[in-house]
Amino acid sequence: MNFEKKYSNLGKNLKSSLIRELLKYASVPNAISFGGGVPDPETFPRTELAQIASEVIEKEYAYVLQYSTTEGDSELAKQMLNLLEKLYGFENLSEENIMFTTGSQQALELAGKIFLDEDSFAIVEDPFYLGAASAFRMRNSKFIAIPLEDDGMNVDVLERKLKDLDAKRLISKVKFIYVIPNFHNPAGVTLSLEKRKRIIELAEKYDLLIIEDDPYGLLRFEGEYIPSLFKLAEIGRVLLLNTFSKILAPGLRIGAVIGEKEIVRKFVLAKQGTDLCSSALTQRIAARYLERYDLVQQITPTIRLYKSKKDVMMKAFEENFSDIKGIKWVNPKGGLFTWVTLPEGFDTLEMFEIAKKKLVFYIPGQAFTPDDRISSSMRMSFCLPPHEKILEGVQRLKEVIIEYGKLKGLI
Ligand SMILES: *Cc1c(COP(=O)(O)O)cnc(C)c1O
Repeated sequence: MNFEKKYSNLGKNLKSSLIRELLKYASVPNAISFGGGVPDPETFPRTELAQIASEVIEKEYAYVLQYSTTEGDSELAKQMLNLLEKLYGFENLSEENIMFTTGSQQALELAGKIFLDEDSFAIVEDPFYLGAASAFRMRNSKFIAIPLEDDGMNVDVLERKLKDLDAKRLISKVKFIYVIPNFHNPAGVTLSLEKRKRIIELAEKYDLLIIEDDPYGLLRFEGEYIPSLFKLAEIGRVLLLNTFSKILAPGLRIGAVIGEKEIVRKFVLAKQGTDLCSSALTQRIAARYLERYDLVQQITPTIRLYKSKKDVMMKAFEENFSDIKGIKWVNPKGGLFTWVTLPEGFDTLEMFEIAKKKLVFYIPGQAFTPDDRISSSMRMSFCLPPHEKILEGVQRLKEVIIEYGKLKGLI
């Protein structure tokens, strides 16, 4: 059968992502991979989750093995609302302000469906989180990419672009500003308080929604907590996406959309057509877990582990990269990623051929550019390789950089 003739326009455009292709190499024996963007499985509270899973299946089978509501488990909503109030001081929220999703990824996909038409604009960060890129791309709308700096989105560029669109009478086509405020994936940077406030001001001025995607906020290694845009703005301006993937276990596939009731109801309607409901089983397991354990205390060892790996990587960078002129890297204050930018002229995708030979892997920055342009940057995750492999991996990477740089006459 000729499937090509059957595909929709969207179906025709679906292609394997660069990252998927590249990650195949990471499982080669003796490879050291900084490519993966997933948590360390040793951080999953498996004993506690196994105990709770067995209990809820035996005692609450009529609920957990049944279809659930589209909104999600109200026991989990109660726990989540408690947590949000305790951690961030979010008050006056009720169960109607929250819907659980099958991972935050589903929230991104539903946001695309709810807000974006082909002639819409979405404001995104450059580099751009791949999951959001693949969700929003399904809608064939246009992106306005705002470059990231050490303290987050370049707000001057944002302001200029909005002004421009307004002058061209296109501002009503701009649907939302998508931001990852803390320990950005892939860039590692955190949005400053001042810029959070300016983004909110601009969103108010031009009447735009802000989608705040915050999977890493709780994984802070150092520095002061910065209030979320959701807290700083009036209710309704910001839609907050949260997930248990990076702080509990991604296999549970539980994310949450938090926002004004009206918009949450719209998400419920959109989700009905997608999967009817998320798993009642994993939601109830998470609810009982939050009831029984103090999440913040539980993730303290995880934070300590990631911080120590991050410190090893930063030290290895200093020892190995200091004599490469023009190289820069981000020292992240939390999360899973750092972002390394090589001197001008480097193409980290082309350089990947040498990395394959030397068995060290990263994700070339090109994978995260909204317009698929050549990039001299790369995403490196420090959370999976063991401490001693981090130094060795960085040493290998230095050899890769030197070999490529010489080949191209760049260093
Ligand atoms: C990991 C991640 C998510 C979460 O994905 P899930 O679908 O909840 O597993 C969302 N946004 C960003 C930026 C991420 O890095």
